[in-house]
Amino acid sequence: MQATFTVSTRRAREVVDITRQVAAVLERAGITEGLCTVFVRHATAAVVINENADPGFRADLVTALDGLFPEGVWEHDKVDDNGAAHLKAALLGPSEVIPVTGGRLALGTWQGIALVECDGPRERQVIVDIR
Ligand code: ZN
Repeated sequence: MQATFTVSTRRAREVVDITRQVAAVLERAGITEGLCTVFVRHATAAVVINENADPGFRADLVTALDGLFPEGVWEHDKVDDNGAAHLKAALLGPSEVIPVTGGRLALGTWQGIALVECDGPRERQVIVDIR
């Protein structure tokens, strides 16, 4: 079973929790055991699984990525002016896979699924594939 949803990001760089949207797709799928792939269809956004409860962590991730990848010093900036955004997305990767157990996402207590916007605000398409 496969579904796509859109996330409208609001800032240039932010971390948006999408756990609920993914869980809603799983509910509709009615699959009790399998794998759930979450994939963002963009070169300057990423999907991560990490701390979900503390919004401070989401801010820390943005700050850490900004520290790793300064703006304006990359080859790609000569053609598109968003080299840092591509590098952040490449480091984190466009997808995550979550086991499905008992009809639920087998996430740990503090884990959530988040879309990482590296060059927003934009409309981001997320594919959820459960089988
Ligand atoms: Zn680019």
